[in-house]
Amino acid sequence: MNFIFVAGIPRSGTTMVDMKERNETLLIVYRQHKETVDQAVAGVDVRTATITCPCGRQRAVVKMYQCLYCGVWFCEWCAEAHFGKTRKQHLAELQETGHA
Ligand SMILES: [Zn+2]
Ligand SMILES: [Zn+2]
Repeated sequence: MNFIFVAGIPRSGTTMVDMKERNETLLIVYRQHKETVDQAVAGVDVRTATITCPCGRQRAVVKMYQCLYCGVWFCEWCAEAHFGKTRKQHLAELQETGHA
């Protein structure tokens, strides 16, 4: 797989652990992209198309959340963990600062 090979070239200052995690992330992004392309080719409507979260849950694309930084799509439960706080915590913060 050319894509992963190119992405796997170690850069200076990058540890092997970082590279492993980075390669795994790229593989997930690649698989999720392939999932959407395969469905588009098969004529599946975008509203009924699905993506598989790294946790294994397969959900409608419209119910998934893509990380702005790593490009991975997450289900609502994994998104809260990945983005660092629950929606409940976020709402509480807004109320504390008077923005809700
Ligand atoms: Zn991310
Ligand atoms: Zn998930």
